[in-house]
Amino acid sequence: MTAFSIIFFSFTFVLPVSAQTGKPNFNRAQTFDVQHYILRINFDRPNKKIYGDTTVRLKPLSNNFKLIELDAAGLDFETVALVPENKILQFRTSGEKVYVELDKIYSPEDTISIRFVYTAMPKKGIYFVDAEVENGKIIRDSQIWTQGEAEEAHHWFPSFDFPSDKATTEQYITAEKGETVVGNGELIGQTENSDGKVTFHYKMPVPHSTYLVSFIVGKFVKVSEIYKTIPLGFYVYPGKESIVPKAYGRAKNMFRTFEELTKIDYPYNKYDQTMVANFNFGGMENITATTMADTEIFAADFNFAQGGVEDLVSHELAHSWFGNLVTCKNWAELWLNEGFATFMEAAYREKMYGRQDYLRKIRSDAKQFIVDDAVNKNRHGLFNQLARPDDSIFDTTTYQKGGAVIHTLRETVGDEVFWRALNVYLNRHKFGNVETSDLQTALEETSGKNLEWFFRQWVYGAGSPKLDVIQLYNPKSKTLRLTVSQVQKVDGITPESFILPLEIEIKTTNGTKTEKLEIKNRMENFSFKLNGKPTEIKLDKNEKIPLKTVRIQPLVIQSK
Ligand SMILES: [Zn+2]
Repeated sequence: MTAFSIIFFSFTFVLPVSAQTGKPNFNRAQTFDVQHYILRINFDRPNKKIYGDTTVRLKPLSNNFKLIELDAAGLDFETVALVPENKILQFRTSGEKVYVELDKIYSPEDTISIRFVYTAMPKKGIYFVDAEVENGKIIRDSQIWTQGEAEEAHHWFPSFDFPSDKATTEQYITAEKGETVVGNGELIGQTENSDGKVTFHYKMPVPHSTYLVSFIVGKFVKVSEIYKTIPLGFYVYPGKESIVPKAYGRAKNMFRTFEELTKIDYPYNKYDQTMVANFNFGGMENITATTMADTEIFAADFNFAQGGVEDLVSHELAHSWFGNLVTCKNWAELWLNEGFATFMEAAYREKMYGRQDYLRKIRSDAKQFIVDDAVNKNRHGLFNQLARPDDSIFDTTTYQKGGAVIHTLRETVGDEVFWRALNVYLNRHKFGNVETSDLQTALEETSGKNLEWFFRQWVYGAGSPKLDVIQLYNPKSKTLRLTVSQVQKVDGITPESFILPLEIEIKTTNGTKTEKLEIKNRMENFSFKLNGKPTEIKLDKNEKIPLKTVRIQPLVIQSK
């Protein structure tokens, strides 16, 4: 997902705590594994109401399975039945749950299909957008679109609405004649009904998390292209086709770049990008069918905004590898989706526009995080100790700090090892879920290095180092003495001292030399023998660790 702007919440909440470790447990226990959802949705537009008919096919994970608990918010169930027998089942709802009593005891060898028929007036998940009218004339038709992340899917279909459960999906969405429905996966067919409405049937044959299920209903023109064998669809409002080359003209370069870098082909059978009105984010990586705010896409009409649109388009596409193929196991691990998608924006820029543009992007992300972090009331690590399933998790730590830390990780293990490790990580966990430890394992195995220190300070710790450098030069011995202090506030989540392998470039009246500083403690002293008076020092000239603030005090010359 890409946010427009960042909002911080300041209330506190209580986390479930694991009895074994005493640490908060962000995972959700599962008693069954959903295999497939069949979603049939019709609309009552004047009342912003839906008629839902969802079949959930699942397998129990243990014996003595009798009760199914699914997430369901505001769904008014008419019938719940075992299919294909059509045996009516008892159910009850409580809070945002529906509990279904099965007809007998089942075991992991069984596959159970439950059909739910219901109505709802969704407060979340499905959004009805009215037509835009100017002087009595419609200038943009009405739309209906979904937003699943973080946990909004259960506001329109009963589901295990948590990223750790992956299932295939199929949708039958009924729209007015003349409208288009964009859904996940392949369009199997369109059927005209007796009332003149048209039902679009989409099928997504690769398992994915529920938050990636989506549809969009509205009046669109589809501009088609093809990358290798993958059909690309760009859905824009009628008459607005000219925005396609400006906003999406580099899409194929992005596919090529991400395939080359990860050495993993685009994992799905199509990629659609659709603009919608009043979207709550900049973009959302719904599987094979990214949704984007029309305002963001139309910004491509202006030269100054084109870079931002390019970042948005590459960010959402990068999620096809980081987020959709391998998915964070819980919301505390969201940085594994968003940090990587943010980093891949820069990696794409590096391929297309060179190292300087890559560094500019990383630097700007790092700066944005540092500025925000200084005033943030709810600071957390990349592993988000404050995670809860709402919009608060989409913040500059998860995105911008995530991207900048991944850059430093790349610099720490080296380019070749970094990309090879990412290939291992993606291949090993494809179509599954990941935690930070999975990434760490892939990097440690590939590099042969212990990276415990790196993950402890940059992923589990909050904040970034703040360095104060005092320089003292003795002209007699031609020695430069540097005192480097870490002055970041110690608060329990920010590391007291970061381990910082930094390079320093020292310019003197007689030349330039580069030295290594191994900073480990809160205060470190270094001395260097020089060939003349230092005129300038540059810390981390190659910007391997952009997440830091440095203050270099003026040079002091020792008088005796
Ligand atoms: Zn994203």
